[in-house]
Amino acid sequence: MIYDVITLFPEIIEGYCSQSITKRGIEKDVITVNTHNPRDFSKDKHKRVDDTPYGGGDGMVLMCQPIFDCYNSIDKKENFEFIMLTPQGEKFSQKIAKELSQKEQIILLCGHYEGFDERIRIGLSPREISIGDFVLTGGELPALVLIDSISRNIENYLGCDKCADIDSFSEGLEGYLEYPHYTKPREYNGMKVPDVLLSGNHQEIEAFRKAQSLERTKLRRPDLLN
Ligand code: SAM
Repeated sequence: MIYDVITLFPEIIEGYCSQSITKRGIEKDVITVNTHNPRDFSKDKHKRVDDTPYGGGDGMVLMCQPIFDCYNSIDKKENFEFIMLTPQGEKFSQKIAKELSQKEQIILLCGHYEGFDERIRIGLSPREISIGDFVLTGGELPALVLIDSISRNIENYLGCDKCADIDSFSEGLEGYLEYPHYTKPREYNGMKVPDVLLSGNHQEIEAFRKAQSLERTKLRRPDLLN
């Protein structure tokens, strides 16, 4: 999977991707993360990428030219998806993460300031994705949210291949929340690990976990049950 991130702040993307499992995914060559800065494509003598909005109002708006030229400079694979990060887009989910993990290349367009000149949306026809009903300062955190969650669904990215299949919201759990986990010691401050998890009986453990998963979902997210 190749991610191409169009961003005015490449250091944010590079900083996150140089840590933890994302770093390992890059080292193992399972994913590649490239950044492209629209400022490098600005034809303005001061390398400006934004300007004041027509009609008045606060804030700056990202201009068409640097974004169009930056986008057009990226080599496109046959099976690519172009995504604009915007709070006005379709709400991101585990289902979309899984679907996007089948792509060869994902181009992520990060906004900043007041957002994009509308003609970027009209002219480049991206898929618009939001990570939730709140507004962030820029699209870099949402882009990283997508990179992280999509990559978890790619073969060989995680240490174990079945991990992502039994995470909360995944098909392996029928879309429910995951059951609780315990590790050593067996007892901590009077709180014990449930006996069944120490029994070695895999059938019983599986039944226990399934029941816990259902119980949690009923209590916390009844909207996920159908
Ligand atoms: N004025 C815009 C609005 O009200 O719809 C919000 C602009 S926001 C301050 C700047 C940029 O952050 C957006 O262009 C987008 O790229 C990103 N962003 C902010 N919140 C987001 C969210 N919930 N999901 C995805 N991207 C978001």
